Amino acid sequence: MIRENLEHLRTKIAAKASRCGRGKQNVRLVAVSKRFPATAIKEAQESGQHIFGENYIQEAQEKYDLLNGEADFHFIGHLQSNKAATAARICSMIETVDRIKLARSLNKHLISMGRQLDILIQVNVGRDDNKSGTLPEKSEELLREIGKLPMLRPRGLMTMPPFTEDPEDARIYFRRLKELGDTLCHHKLFFDNSAVELSMGMSHDYEVAIEEGATLVRIGTAIFGERPVR
Ligand SMILES: *Cc1c(COP(=O)(O)O)cnc(C)c1O
Repeated sequence: MIRENLEHLRTKIAAKASRCGRGKQNVRLVAVSKRFPATAIKEAQESGQHIFGENYIQEAQEKYDLLNGEADFHFIGHLQSNKAATAARICSMIETVDRIKLARSLNKHLISMGRQLDILIQVNVGRDDNKSGTLPEKSEELLREIGKLPMLRPRGLMTMPPFTEDPEDARIYFRRLKELGDTLCHHKLFFDNSAVELSMGMSHDYEVAIEEGATLVRIGTAIFGERPVR
């Protein structure tokens, strides 16, 4: 089932990207494996999937160990500073950096590990009180502070808009993230300003997100099925 779902999804992503005049290599898939076992990740890997999204550090670490460290994890959940060391060790990207305290903590641990780490800034474009993320108008200052931290490579922005049934309702938020990314890029605040990442879009609205410029789509249910309750 996972293989068929992935193949179907890849076809749809490629078709949507090409209809928007973008190459399919410009839209990467993050398979959100949260709450699914390491065996599901293994099966997806055998079907050619590389990047996996996890939102609990302890759960990610257990799976990382079961997979003997052979997993490319993007962290997509709320990250507490006291979990920064583990996150920095087992993830290839933290998509949810939204405050300087967390950035400094990651940087400190990375110095002792002697390696750099890709990050995204999570932006609360919907100004939703229940959601993490920096407010759009605070993102520039956050990026300027992060620019002083040598081990962090800010690659772009990530967002999770307020949930609505109709994927079209998310379009305005995706567009705002893209516009914010363009502005920050213009100010040369990213590690590579010629390739700014935008992580947006989930199972029900990824096609709209690709139309609005997503370079990373985070998809769980459409690959692994309904998530088991924790
Ligand atoms: C769970 C989750 C997803 C995936 O959601 P689906 O609707 O299952 O595709 C994407 N992004 C984040 C941040 C998530 O927590």
